[in-house]
Amino acid sequence: MAEGNDLILRGVLLDRRARFTAISGAGLVETARCVHALSRVCTAALGRALMMTSMMGVSLKGGGERVTSIIKGGGPAGNIVCTADETGRVKGYIENPSVELPPTPSGKLDVAGAVGAQGELTIVRDMSLKEPYVGRSPLVSGEIAEDFAHYFTVSEQLPSLVYLGVRVDIETGATLAAGGMLVQTLPGCPDEDSDRLAACANGISRLTRSLQAGETLPSAAASIFAGMDMEILHSYAPEFRCDCGRERLERVLLSLGREELEDMIEKERGAQLTCHFCNAVYNFNESELRRLLAEGKRKRNDG
Ligand SMILES: [Zn+2]
Repeated sequence: MAEGNDLILRGVLLDRRARFTAISGAGLVETARCVHALSRVCTAALGRALMMTSMMGVSLKGGGERVTSIIKGGGPAGNIVCTADETGRVKGYIENPSVELPPTPSGKLDVAGAVGAQGELTIVRDMSLKEPYVGRSPLVSGEIAEDFAHYFTVSEQLPSLVYLGVRVDIETGATLAAGGMLVQTLPGCPDEDSDRLAACANGISRLTRSLQAGETLPSAAASIFAGMDMEILHSYAPEFRCDCGRERLERVLLSLGREELEDMIEKERGAQLTCHFCNAVYNFNESELRRLLAEGKRKRNDG
C-alpha cells in the first residue's frame, strides 16, 4: 500500500470528444488515515474527497495554482476540506475523524450518513495573483462522487460521470484499495457518445475492486474504455503531503492582530498551533511572539 504506487492518468476518449482522469490512491488514503487516526467511515469519506481534489489538481494550469474543495453536509463527521496543487499533491482533513457509523443495510460504509446531505460543496480555484474562482452547488446525497458530478454538471456546465471508491479492512480499518474516475464530455459531443460513456458506468463502478485484485490502473482503464480510442496523455504521482511550516504559521499568528498576540504573551507566555491538515504542532515562545508583534507594528507603520 506504499504511496509511491499511487497514480493519476489523464487522457481522452472517442477521438478526443471526451476526456477522463483516473486515480489509484490507496497509498495517499492510507497516509491520511494514519495522520488523522480516521475511523473506517471517515477513511472512506475523506479518502474519496482527497482523491477527487487531487484529480482536479492535475487539471490546473500550474504556476502555483491550487484547488480547494469544501464539503459541508451537516452530518456527524463535520466538514471536509481538501487542497491540491497541479502535481496532484493533496492535503485534507475531516472535522470529527473518529466518528464511526454502523454499515448501511447493503453492508457498505455509511459515508452519506457521516457527511450529511443538508449543505453544499464549494470549490475554490486559487490562481495565485488573480481573484480566486469560487463555485458552489448543493449536495445531492453526501456520497461525495454524486455531489461532485452534480457540481461539474450544474456549476461548470460540464456533464460529468464521477466514481470514487475506498475499500477498508473491516477488522483493522486499513485501506485495502482506493480508486476514482472522472469522465467528461466536451462541448459538441453527440448524444450517442454520451450514451456510450454512460454504458461504461458499470465497469467504472468496479474499478476499486479491480485495483484490490491487483490490476494496474492503466490496464483497468483500458478494459473499462475498450473500443473507445483511449489515449493516455499525462500521468502523475499523487501523494498526501502537507506544506505547512513555521513561516506559514507565523503569518497566521500575525493575521490574528496585535491584541490577540499581546493576550497570548500575557496569559500563555507563548502559543501552540496545530496544523489542521497534518496535525503537526508548532510552539512559539514569548520572545518569538514579541518579535512577531514588533514585525506587525513595523508593517502597519510602513503601510
Ligand atoms: Zn500541516
